[in-house]
Amino acid sequence: MDTNLPASSNPRVVIIGCGFAGLRLAKELRHQPVQVVVIDRNNYHNFQPLLYQVATGALEADSIAYPIRKIFAGQKNFFYRMADVQRVDPANNMVQTSVGDIRYDHLVLATGSLTNFFGIESIEKNAMQIKSIPNALNLRSFIFQNFEKALLTENPEEKQALMNIVVVGGGPTGVEISGSLAEMRRHVLPKDYPELDLERMQIFLVEAGAELLGPMSKKSQADALRYLNELGVNVRLNTSIKKFENCRAYYSETEFIPTENLVWAAGVNGAAVPGLPDEVVARNKRITVNLWNQVQGYDNIFAIGDVANMVTEEMPRGLPMLAPVAQQQAEHLAKNFERLRRGEQPLPFVYTNKGVMAIVSRNKAVVDLPKDVHFNGIFGWLTWLFVHLMTLVGFRNKVVALVDWAFSYFSSDQALRLIIRPFSRRDVKDDQGKKKAEHMTATPEYNPTPPAIQTPATEVRG
Ligand SMILES: Cc1cc2nc3c(=O)[nH]c(=O)nc-3n(C[C@H](O)[C@H](O)[C@H](O)COP(=O)(O)OP(=O)(O)OC[C@H]3O[C@@H](n4cnc5c(N)ncnc54)[C@H](O)[C@@H]3O)c2cc1C
Repeated sequence: MDTNLPASSNPRVVIIGCGFAGLRLAKELRHQPVQVVVIDRNNYHNFQPLLYQVATGALEADSIAYPIRKIFAGQKNFFYRMADVQRVDPANNMVQTSVGDIRYDHLVLATGSLTNFFGIESIEKNAMQIKSIPNALNLRSFIFQNFEKALLTENPEEKQALMNIVVVGGGPTGVEISGSLAEMRRHVLPKDYPELDLERMQIFLVEAGAELLGPMSKKSQADALRYLNELGVNVRLNTSIKKFENCRAYYSETEFIPTENLVWAAGVNGAAVPGLPDEVVARNKRITVNLWNQVQGYDNIFAIGDVANMVTEEMPRGLPMLAPVAQQQAEHLAKNFERLRRGEQPLPFVYTNKGVMAIVSRNKAVVDLPKDVHFNGIFGWLTWLFVHLMTLVGFRNKVVALVDWAFSYFSSDQALRLIIRPFSRRDVKDDQGKKKAEHMTATPEYNPTPPAIQTPATEVRG
């Protein structure tokens, strides 16, 4: 079955994934004599850098997603199939999907990344992650559900665990979500929950390394730490969460932070699709590519974006998993397709670093530009806002985001705290969307009511 794709005399380029990389490539191919087939399990493009704002109620989910078909309306050589790609079959130039097999002439893997739980089962089962819009909405619901529960319980230990939030991973996502939660604690929760003593609510940011924002400059790292301290976030460096069960995030065999809410932002792996030989699947499950984004050993299979492991002299551990890398590789690959069509030699990819930034809270962001240029504070914050607004897909989304941000800024409030998607851990799905219910219910040790206080374990406070 060829999923009713029309026959074409032009070669077919199948792109798996319509994230930053897949979307840009499909657009860049609009004037080339190829049939572009995009496959994605979601019928929308998800702007991941703003997921944490959906999770903390600052933005609507709709304003960071855009329907794929609408993005490409009018592009004659474009076709989309909503499907999960299960396997690549390079011997037959086919991909096996949940809606049938699709043949390709050129295949581009742009499947992004998945949360890396480092094999810690209790964390995979019980922690919240923030990789998709459903994840972000679940997190938002879960936090507010737990506040509603905190009102009802008389048990002080349980109340504390329901209110505490532990964010694991001091990269940009962990820093951004911790800052945003601290603002929520300061401006939103006191209005909604005057019956709760919010002084008791603790937000922890736990990082295994010695600093936050690992790849950024020392100055930005120090500024981010200072901002988080000012917001009252408990930053724990050189600390690893080893397991999460019975409402306890353990950082040693006996020491733990009592919490119901653990957000895991400690790392990602490439979302490699099965079917390619093991040799091409590198560290972190990324697919090894050469400087032309070609998958090792194949002329007609390419990988771009987070899933591609491209090692360069400057970056021996592979290019960073960032949106600009994904977009630049996509643009470059489109140009190389054109060069090959004209019988010219393809050119190697060179990454242009235009800078990195992270926001901590209102008026507080850190920005590193090339040539050791750093700035922070309100100027950094305005830069962050401008860049993210400009890169959001769709005019409506830009307007909605701007209105939501302006509302939050001037009212010190966030309009979006509806529990419209009540979440229970039994709803947890894996990244392929398969339910993990069986897995979850088979976790008898997870008891949402914390045990009594007289345990030998040490509890962290403040
Ligand atoms: C919370 C968060 C914050 C971030 N903040 C920043 C930031 O501030 N700046 C920055 O530069 N980067 C940031 N990033 C990283 C950035 O989002 C990624 O580098 C970028 O999304 C990579 O683009 P991609 O196209 O490779 O993958 P993605 O954008 O992840 O797209 C992959 C697509 O493939 C689809 N897909 C995957 N597997 C399959 C399959 N088997 N079948 C069908 N479809 C499939 C997915 O549905 C998805 O649409 C952030 C990431 C996260 C999670």
